[in-house]
Amino acid sequence: MRKTKIICTLGPATEKTETLRQLIEKGADVFRLNMSHAKRGWVRAIVPRIRKLADELARPVGILLDTQGPAIRTGDLKHDLHLKTGDILEFTVRGAKSREKYSVGVNYDGLVEDVTVGDPVLVDNGLIKLVVLEKKTNRVRCKVLTPATLGSRRHINLPGVHVNLPPLTKKDIADVRLGAELGADFIALSFVREESDIEELRRLLARKKSKALIVAKIEDQAAVQSIEQIIKSADVIMVARGDLGIECPMEELPIIQRRIVKSCIRLGKPVVVATQLLESMITNPLPTRAEITDVANAVFEQADAIMLSGETTIGRYPVECVQVLNRVAERIERSGGAGYAEAAILEDARQKTVASAVVLANSLRQAKMIVFTRHGTMARNVSNLRPEHAPIFAFTPSEEVRRQLSILWGVWPVQLEFTEDPNATIEAAEKFLREKKLAAPGDQLVIISDVRAGESLVDCVQLRTAK
Ligand code: PGA
Ligand code: MN
Repeated sequence: MRKTKIICTLGPATEKTETLRQLIEKGADVFRLNMSHAKRGWVRAIVPRIRKLADELARPVGILLDTQGPAIRTGDLKHDLHLKTGDILEFTVRGAKSREKYSVGVNYDGLVEDVTVGDPVLVDNGLIKLVVLEKKTNRVRCKVLTPATLGSRRHINLPGVHVNLPPLTKKDIADVRLGAELGADFIALSFVREESDIEELRRLLARKKSKALIVAKIEDQAAVQSIEQIIKSADVIMVARGDLGIECPMEELPIIQRRIVKSCIRLGKPVVVATQLLESMITNPLPTRAEITDVANAVFEQADAIMLSGETTIGRYPVECVQVLNRVAERIERSGGAGYAEAAILEDARQKTVASAVVLANSLRQAKMIVFTRHGTMARNVSNLRPEHAPIFAFTPSEEVRRQLSILWGVWPVQLEFTEDPNATIEAAEKFLREKKLAAPGDQLVIISDVRAGESLVDCVQLRTAK
């Protein structure tokens, strides 16, 4: 049973029902819809199809709607621009005309104010490097430092610059509304810079009566600087290495990744490692040895989930990618993990109760953990402590919570109605595991549940032997 969860971004390569089915069967836990590319009509159509398939396959597949966020993009071009080193490229705003041979419009009017002469400008995933030579009212003249071809609607990165765009653009707000309407389980906020960005999204979700969990994407230096507060206020953190690797010096990336994963586990928040895990498999049927090692590293660090982007949106081998992640994760998990959970902060009584249950499970052979969770908190507490071997069966009465548990390390989510009598609920859970052959007679079951104590319910850890 694999512990590290797999997130697949969907796109033209994976939108067919048969492909979606294969992705789920091979182990996709969460599907991501990337609003930087996906059209609203497409999202509206695919969400019910995913739900239906997940039902058919009896799998708790989560849906993550990822906003574009305050990203700067170049506009449409009639023809691609073939740029050579030393060429001048002018970015224009407010529809200004340029007299340069090469120019392109930009979606963000504040660009001129935000950049300074001498600043680096990186376009199209950092592939095109420029430097700012001169600023005019509605134009920024740049010199090309690397030869490249510029196509339409490419992303611009300004490392270290605080872009004056709101945390949620008009487009983002419309996309979040759609996510709320369709019942997305997770909403990702791109280019989070500070805690208040997350609070703004939380207010919007509350107004829309959405219970979606907020995924804060860490993609620039500002977010790295405020990482502790961001982790505390978000529900899930994503190490968005695509942009992070451009916004920060590249050699810092592995250090930042490790620090974020460690901090998330210490503070009890799930964490996703994203982007370029199997980049070469966009065109090749096999990963490079370096990619296998990168995946292994994220699994060793015990990230909750690893994410595929281009590999499954436009790649030729999307299903094979899931198979590779599955194989590598399962093997690496058996070889042990980094053990960052030792530093997990146990604040409340419930976390301490859970910690004692994990110690108990770690001391037993063939142990299985069973946790009953109404809102998902207890399941998250167990998962966060990264039990050494025992799988975590999390029973919840809520279908929504069940899907939100899909992202958590080591958690196998099951929907189950809770009865008045906690013991009857435990028996029902045991029966489920027995019938699905998820537990065998003689297995040691470490159970975290309510028990009735007079009028009240108290948290309790029990050790039982499966019948
Ligand atoms: P994106 O975010 O795919 O939306 O750009 C992920 C990343 O930057 O790594
Ligand atoms: Mn990004």
